[in-house]
Formats: sequence, structure tokens, C-alpha cells
Amino acid sequence: MAADLLKEFLERKVSDAAPEKQTPGTCAIFCSDSRIDSSAFASEPINNLFPPRNIGNQVFGLMGSASYPIGHLHSVRLMAVVGHIGCGAVAAAYKMSRELNPQFSPRSIEAAVQRTYERLRGKRRQLVYTASEEAVRDELAPMAQFFANAANVIGMDEEPYLPKHAEANVNLQVAALLHLDRVREKVGKGELIVAGAVYDFLGKYGPAGSTYLVNVNGKPAVQHELAQIPEIRGCVKSFL
Ligand SMILES: [Zn+2]
Repeated sequence: MAADLLKEFLERKVSDAAPEKQTPGTCAIFCSDSRIDSSAFASEPINNLFPPRNIGNQVFGLMGSASYPIGHLHSVRLMAVVGHIGCGAVAAAYKMSRELNPQFSPRSIEAAVQRTYERLRGKRRQLVYTASEEAVRDELAPMAQFFANAANVIGMDEEPYLPKHAEANVNLQVAALLHLDRVREKVGKGELIVAGAVYDFLGKYGPAGSTYLVNVNGKPAVQHELAQIPEIRGCVKSFL
């Protein structure tokens, strides 16, 4: 019953009093998928984790929410984009991309990311909808455009739930973060790390609940010096 859900929602006391000001160290962008517990990514999530969420963990859909902590919460030292195995939004965007004509043959995911960003810049997003499906498709459009642009490097599989699709999308979203001036500036000064990760709650590629680091500051994680740190090395992976 919907009323029971509302009652439970209102009765649930989720925390004790919080601090007057928020000082999170991490801003992590998650997919809204209800199987993901974003709070589980911090040992004490309250006042430590700033978690913008939308379908497909897309920075494009929440540029303001991703920019806010960098400009106004100076405690943030880590920004993470957390994609996941079995993402319905990624699969939907991938299917949408089949309707688009790429007209571009990239040699790498990085080139496809760059091309996608160039084509999206300056496009005004529609903010008023009457058809709900149109709103969903519009929110997924940047990702669909990217998959169309990246078709030659990702492949033309019919199966859109492969981890390479989640990883490719994470690369796109990390690149979108790195286009933000404040983010770029802080990364340049060594004050901020932008990480891209793929979360496997289905346990398809290792123990269920594993999170794989795929991107650091816009580069494949396997090529980054952080991959040499023993505590991190075991989590570094690439599905592409
Ligand atoms: Zn998802």
C-alpha cells in the first residue's frame, strides 16, 4: 500500500542531530538505481559524503549539483563517478545510440568523449516536459550521443549490460567533471582527485559489492601512479 510506504518513510528516524555546517571530504555521483546504498561507500556517511544521484550517474544531468561542492564546500578532496554493472540507464542510452548516425570514427574512448563534449557544448537543455518518456530520453541523450560516437571502439554488441559500457560512460562523466574550471584547477594543484569507478553489486566479476577503479583524473586508472599503491592496486581494472 502506498500509504504504508509513506508512513514508514515519515516515521523513520535516519540520524541524530547533524553538524550546523557540512564538511564532506568526498563528492560521489551515483546512479539512482535502488540496489545501490551510497551511504555504504563511507564508514561514516553523515557529513562525509556528498552524493548527487540520477539515472546513469551522469554529470551532464547534474552539473550544478556536481559544481556546488567544489565551489562552496572546500572540504572536498575526492570526486568520484560511480557507474555500476547492469545499469538500465546505460543500456537504454546504448539502445538509443543505435538510432543515431555517428559520422565519426574515433580511435579511442578519449577521442569519442572529446567529440561528444564538443557536440554537446552550447546545446540548450529542455527543462519543461509534458511527456515523461521524453524527459527520460532527453536526460539520456548525451550518453546516447557518446555511445554513437564511440561505436567503433566499444563495438556493436547487442548486449548493452556489459561492464565496458558502464566503464565507457564513467569515462565520459569524468571528462565532463574535468571540463569544469574549478575541478580542473584543483586537480592541477593536487588538491583534488577525480576518480571513475564501476561498482559490481551483482558479483559478476569478483566478490559482490566490489568497486573497481577505472579512471583517475581523466586517464585510465591502470596508467596512473595511484595504481601502484598496494591498498588501491587490487581494485584497479579495465573492462574496455
Ligand atoms: Zn544504473
